[in-house]
Amino acid sequence: MMCAKIGLKEHKRLFLRIIYRLATDYRCGYGVIFASRFLQPMSPSIPDSFRHQGLRQQLVKELNAKGISDARVLAALGRVPRHVFLDTAFTELAYTDQAMPIGAGQTISQPYTVAFQTALLGVEERMKVLEIGTGSGYQACVLEELGARVYSIERQRALYHATRERLLHMGRKIKVYFGDGTLGLPSFAPFDRIIVTAGAPVVPQTLILQLKIGGSMVIPVGDEESQNMMRITRTSESDVVQETFEQFRFVPLLGQEGWRDSR
Ligand code: SAM
Repeated sequence: MMCAKIGLKEHKRLFLRIIYRLATDYRCGYGVIFASRFLQPMSPSIPDSFRHQGLRQQLVKELNAKGISDARVLAALGRVPRHVFLDTAFTELAYTDQAMPIGAGQTISQPYTVAFQTALLGVEERMKVLEIGTGSGYQACVLEELGARVYSIERQRALYHATRERLLHMGRKIKVYFGDGTLGLPSFAPFDRIIVTAGAPVVPQTLILQLKIGGSMVIPVGDEESQNMMRITRTSESDVVQETFEQFRFVPLLGQEGWRDSR
């Protein structure tokens, strides 16, 4: 009976993995979302084997070859075990440079995207950093590896609970909150840095006001198909400098100062 149960679970995983592979190969967003609805986050007690460590170092080399040159950022990615943040159906793919489903119709960002945003953010030791879109908690761990004091907000209740528990279990000091991240965290503002990990229609003004003078925010801004990565630096009480970088494709930033929540 027990064997039959395990067999079924494995079949389900294999089925989901095949759907996910086909959906990503053929760029079918609905397939990715379908697979992600049935996935469970991986247990935080999964070990970090030598094999995983080796695959991770290869991924870091790949990111470097793709143009990520910040040594501190690459080293931080090299220290965070990405497979721990995924359902076991995706363990084999954890160190490939692709986004993966994490449940609740959401994704863990592609490693290149995580590295690109983190490098733009320019995090230094002890900086107070706010992340909008906790998701799996992976990006937050990369920020903590750089010495930041990380605050993170997630609007999907199931992800918030699962990730908060995972991060606690991993011994991380990241503070995770449930709510609409477009409104920031007024009681902990101002922040040295803000990183938004979902695609926004416009830059939320509330978040700009929660930056320190001299602080900056990295945020993808555009339509629902593609977004330009932007860095907004607050230069005075009322002025900002905006820089625009390459295009990405994120899940939508939903909320009061994001996309309307019709889903
Ligand atoms: N940083 C995450 C990680 O490392 O796994 C990946 C983020 S995923 C691409 C985007 C996340 O933003 C999703 O988990 C989504 O639920 C969340 N999100 C979207 N709108 C939000 C909002 N207004 N406030 C907080 N989180 C939001």
